[in-house]
Amino acid sequence: MRILRIGMSGTDVMEIQSLLKKMGYYTGAIDGIFGSQMQSAVINFQREFGLVPDGVIGANTYRILERYLLGYDLYTLHKGDTFSNIAKRYYTNLPLLMAANPDLSANNLPIGKQIVVPYGMDVVDTNISYTYDILERDLLGLKARYPFLEIGVAGSSVLGKNLYYIKLGSGPNQVFYNGSHHALEWITSPLLMKFIENFSKAYTLGQNIGGYNPRQIWNQSSIYIIPMVNPDGVDLVLNGLNPTNPYYKDLIRWNKGSTDFSTDWQANNRGVDLNHNYNAAWQQSKDAEATYGITGPGPTRYSGPAPESEPETKAIVNFTRNHNFRLVLAYHTQGQVIYWDFMNMAPPEAKIIGETLARISGYSLDVSTGIASYAGYKDWFIQEYRRPGYTIEAGLGKNPLPISQFDTIYAQNLGVLLYAATV
Ligand SMILES: [Zn+2]
Repeated sequence: MRILRIGMSGTDVMEIQSLLKKMGYYTGAIDGIFGSQMQSAVINFQREFGLVPDGVIGANTYRILERYLLGYDLYTLHKGDTFSNIAKRYYTNLPLLMAANPDLSANNLPIGKQIVVPYGMDVVDTNISYTYDILERDLLGLKARYPFLEIGVAGSSVLGKNLYYIKLGSGPNQVFYNGSHHALEWITSPLLMKFIENFSKAYTLGQNIGGYNPRQIWNQSSIYIIPMVNPDGVDLVLNGLNPTNPYYKDLIRWNKGSTDFSTDWQANNRGVDLNHNYNAAWQQSKDAEATYGITGPGPTRYSGPAPESEPETKAIVNFTRNHNFRLVLAYHTQGQVIYWDFMNMAPPEAKIIGETLARISGYSLDVSTGIASYAGYKDWFIQEYRRPGYTIEAGLGKNPLPISQFDTIYAQNLGVLLYAATV
């Protein structure tokens, strides 16, 4: 964590703006720019928490902010404590508190034991640039609040970042959702993360979600989610090129001499378009490169030197092979379309399910053409398993879609994510 002060900008500033707003200290724009309004908010926060009110976010201030970013406190039980008075003191919900401490019995709290107390507010923010660091912190927060979640690592990126997976449910019907194959399409990561949070919350509180009973889905299905397939690419788009990146010079060359990756970069850290790197008509994808002026690594559409040449692609393939997925959804953002087939290999039911997904989301159902129709994840899945696999192109407009589209995209896809787990 770097020290933050007035005049600085970045995704880390934005994350804290969002938190201070959620906590009622800040009313300005969530724009990632540390201005005077944010400085006043930080000073007020510091006063409230007994810190030196200098308006600078150093180690001591960050230590307290981080607790709120994670979404829970660690509390040591005292004599006379009860779950309900702890919940009241933290403005949190009793069932959420109990879910975070499944080993404790409410009428026999062991004095001196440290427990997890979830704050009343949610963890996953949907109004900010969603970086890998934020994803990691949110996963720590969600795991502490909802220890029933299985969270693991399916592999790593070129730069060694974890490809996290989250499993919801314990039923025999396995499905797999993934997001952010394409770096500019990072809004699909908070889409899946918010789904995980809302599903877990509804499950804990015994509430319905999108008209479904989450406990029924939990028992029927196992929903595996990899929210960020391409964390290195997302970092390039949102945080820019770090001078310590071992591919620093190559990346600038592959980006046609530009150090700005924020509006064009879809690929991984080696300039390979991961959704053109799967072993499904890969050679056709390769042969089509010339038509699109692709001569090697670059921002988009380079299929790589060989199928599955990239660690991210290989990890997703292995993850798929190690499970028995009945259906997969690969999330992208380009024009509210659902693609359902690959070279006529999809089973007849895939079209019927696709029609329902289209009806739920309001998106159209189509068959992809041109270079986009080869070597993608859903293509490979359909080819290998002859089961329903979909590319869902959420949202409208030029990538990267503004985060202001989040609520619309979430509303269009909540029903899709639930239905796809049950069909
Ligand atoms: Zn895409």
